[in-house]
Amino acid sequence: MKDKTIKLLNKKGLRLDGRKLDELRSVKLEVGILPNADGSAYVEHGKNKIIVGVFGPREMHPKHLQRADRMVLRCRYHMAPFSVPERKSPAPSRRENELSKVIRDSLLPSLFVENYPRTGVDLYIEVLQADGGTRCASITAASLALADAGLPMRDIVVACAAGKVNGKIALDLMDTEDKLGDADVPVAYMPNLNAITLLQMDGKLSTKEFEEAVKMAIEGCKKISNIQKEALQTKYKVIKQEEVEE
Ligand code: ADP
Repeated sequence: MKDKTIKLLNKKGLRLDGRKLDELRSVKLEVGILPNADGSAYVEHGKNKIIVGVFGPREMHPKHLQRADRMVLRCRYHMAPFSVPERKSPAPSRRENELSKVIRDSLLPSLFVENYPRTGVDLYIEVLQADGGTRCASITAASLALADAGLPMRDIVVACAAGKVNGKIALDLMDTEDKLGDADVPVAYMPNLNAITLLQMDGKLSTKEFEEAVKMAIEGCKKISNIQKEALQTKYKVIKQEEVEE
């Protein structure tokens, strides 16, 4: 049972880390950081640190997993043993298997899978440090890594959660708020298409609170989406600069 007596908001209505209810944690994104992968991205979202490497599209192996009419997206979300205060077993847990599927499903609508028959794309997500909201930060970085790999996409998927702490709807819960709060609603979103690709809810909310949380999460997504675009632009500015200097 979650302990509702724990104070997650101070008298001024500020949260444990000093944020306002509708304030995001700081988000930093970088692309093209792994020379051995076809595409890559790194995200720092609050204390979360996550790295993503993409391979493909390439011929799908083993062949029996090939689809004659589409590309297959495979995704592995993994938390490093040192990513949380108590050593986590490196073996894939039920939670990691579930998140791998959830992340994959949230990215698929953005891809033109029908254009790449018999191929596969592999997404490897390594959580180096976790502090609540890793599925959202992983989706944000994974979509950027797919863009970095040069895959044509309908939109870059971005994700952010909103939830409820001490009876108030709040944006982007960190681990303590997630564990001691009342609810968490992760949302993945395609801003240009105004389409949600992932919507989950952990805990209880009234219909009005749920709608408020989704609206707040989408606003958070839009802000992170701008940081995604800046990260991609930065990479190409650096390449252009190097070309000019050569
Ligand atoms: P998300 O990271 O998407 O919020 P969860 O709600 O399942 O996913 O997890 C919330 C947080 O709980 C994680 O971000 C992480 O900080 C922490 N956590 C998850 N698994 C473990 C674990 N095995 N040991 C310790 N902390 C964990």
